[in-house]
Amino acid sequence: MSPSLTDTDKMSSELISSAVQVIKAAKNICVLTGAGISAESGIPTFRDKQSGLWERFSAEELANVTAFERDPALVWSWYQWRRGEVKDKQPNPAHFALTTWQQQAEALEHRLCLVTQNVDDLHEQSGSEAIHLHGELWRNHCSSCGAPYEQDIDTQITELVSCPKCGGHIRPSIVWFGEMLPHQAWQSAQRAAATSDVFISIGTSSLVYPAAGLAQLAKAKGAMVIEINPNPTGGQSNRLIDIQLPYPAGQVLPILVNQLAR
Ligand code: NAD
Ligand code: ZN
Repeated sequence: MSPSLTDTDKMSSELISSAVQVIKAAKNICVLTGAGISAESGIPTFRDKQSGLWERFSAEELANVTAFERDPALVWSWYQWRRGEVKDKQPNPAHFALTTWQQQAEALEHRLCLVTQNVDDLHEQSGSEAIHLHGELWRNHCSSCGAPYEQDIDTQITELVSCPKCGGHIRPSIVWFGEMLPHQAWQSAQRAAATSDVFISIGTSSLVYPAAGLAQLAKAKGAMVIEINPNPTGGQSNRLIDIQLPYPAGQVLPILVNQLAR
């Protein structure tokens, strides 16, 4: 079982204090969030096995540009199902702590840039501004002509929707495996990582590139790297990490942000 703050008190408070010291000395902070920050809101990560109807598919198999080309109806109905699952989910204490931090950043005399790989809107729901590297679950556009599709589509509609301009299939505005990241978002995220004194990776397996490369970029430019993940990431990314906080984001972030303001 992953440690929780309650059963590892001494070690965790020392670790959090060391992270707070490092952050207090920084001018520019870049935070990258992944699916793990929304796990405590009840949204499964990509590493969790899918449930129910979709059990026999892996998320990677469906969130894929070739999957949509091969079987658009299947991929569309999966996204409509995911939207149904995510629709009523609410931000958790981790999202709210980041919002508080963003609001206090000026008073704390540093800049905080929040970059997310998540396609949900829980950062926005909690009142934060975030750069979305992988698109947004609630937006749609045409897979043929690229025109944005602004009308709301009820999550109950599992049949394909046609583009009013060209008849092409409407798709979710999400960056699939095999697609480029949105240019402006990626430029801003790279700039924030490269100029950061502290880079904080929260709830990401650090496996999905190019987003996972942001921590490497920050480190190469001299930043301290902090990771918040109850299952610390292994492999190459692990060698980058200066401070590991192996706890759920919803537990550790409120404490950390509270201590920053003191
Ligand atoms: P991932 O699924 O690969 O990894 C999630 C990570 O979160 C794991 O390392 C896990 O140990 C960690 N985690 C689990 N619970 C946590 C908690 N309470 N606190 C902190 N960490 C916790 O996710 P990823 O790295 O973001 O990459 C997968 C891709 O999946 C992303 O591109 C993202 O767009 C997409 N995705 C998004 C959502 C979402 O928007 N909520 C959900 C699933 C997948
Ligand atoms: Zn079209």
